[in-house]
Amino acid sequence: MKRDYYEILGVARTATKDEIKKAYRKLALQYHPDKNPDNKDAEEHFKEVNEAYEVLSNDDKRRRYDQFGHAGVGSSAASGAGGGGFQGGGAADFNDIFSAFNDMFGGGRGRSGGSPFGFEEVFGGGGQRRGRASAGIPGTDLKIRLKLTLEEIAKGVEKTIKIKKQIACKECNGTGSKSGATETCQTCHGSGEVRQASKTMFGQFVNIAACPTCGGEGRVIKDRCTACYGEGIKQGEVTVKVTVPAGVQDGNYLTLRGQGNAGPRGGAPGDLIVVIEEKPHELFIREGDDVIYNLAVSFPDLVLGTKIDVPTLDGPIKLTIPPSTQPETRLRIAGHGIGHLRGSSRGDQYVRVNVFVPRELSHQDKEMLRELKKSQTIAPSGHHDQNSKSFFEKARDIFS
Ligand SMILES: [Zn+2]
Ligand SMILES: [Zn+2]
Repeated sequence: MKRDYYEILGVARTATKDEIKKAYRKLALQYHPDKNPDNKDAEEHFKEVNEAYEVLSNDDKRRRYDQFGHAGVGSSAASGAGGGGFQGGGAADFNDIFSAFNDMFGGGRGRSGGSPFGFEEVFGGGGQRRGRASAGIPGTDLKIRLKLTLEEIAKGVEKTIKIKKQIACKECNGTGSKSGATETCQTCHGSGEVRQASKTMFGQFVNIAACPTCGGEGRVIKDRCTACYGEGIKQGEVTVKVTVPAGVQDGNYLTLRGQGNAGPRGGAPGDLIVVIEEKPHELFIREGDDVIYNLAVSFPDLVLGTKIDVPTLDGPIKLTIPPSTQPETRLRIAGHGIGHLRGSSRGDQYVRVNVFVPRELSHQDKEMLRELKKSQTIAPSGHHDQNSKSFFEKARDIFS
């Protein structure tokens, strides 16, 4: 059913660790999803390559694979070496959200199996799930975008979204057959496998693949369901609940195991991949887990100090502007930033204070300002700076 790991990497059975690593790097780069956007074929290859490397780069797993084939490593790979396996190869550096999740949920992969929410690498483990599928052809993964506001990201959010996807046909219970009767597959004569020999520079390999006609079952349905034309699936719409933890970033993704397209004729469903999109905020600028807010303050308030209501992600807060606050000062409002992906605390909000310069003034205002100008301390005393020459002296030096 599965391809030979050595064949996938294109290396000999006697290959050294270095050779395996080199071959892996080359292929991983070639099929990397970033280089092949929306290319299902490349994605499949990439999964295969990673799976092969996970096994062949590990002495123990490689020995078991050499001895017992896929059966020797299947179970151990599926139970997961606590996130170490897939990522340990230094391969899957897509998005650090996953390592963070693994920490957050205490070891990640092993535990996520039972939860509806698999915080796993999108490209990890797919092969194992498919390999274990008991019937039908596995459903495909589904990718959707989820737009979130900064407020939602700050505290985490639960979203209920409608998605269009392939669901099991109700008429035939997803079997594709009216009566449920089956007959032996003519393509593979019931074995569920098709074999192809191929010659490569490393010798001849026999490629064993799941039979495309019966999807590896060895049997095909007899009387087709008319509602789904024997596919066992139909286009439908479902609502999905997505729990987004605080602190996610644009481009992060969450994998909901088994919530993708239903597989034809009872095949295991694919995954739903939710890609996070962050809506730009009209008031705040995000800097990591902190947010920046620009605040213009009048000159008298900067000098005398005041209290001003400023917006935060949690609603307005009174901020104290201390006397003699200089322009460009960053005042911190602790704990009102974005929630950290790791841990329960939050980042901070910084208020960048600037001076407000009015464009229109009344006659009276102008009079007051002219009065103010007469003050001895209202203008900078830079002309008499003891450490350096004044601006005017410097300018004179340069241009003379
Ligand atoms: Zn049907
Ligand atoms: Zn077949």
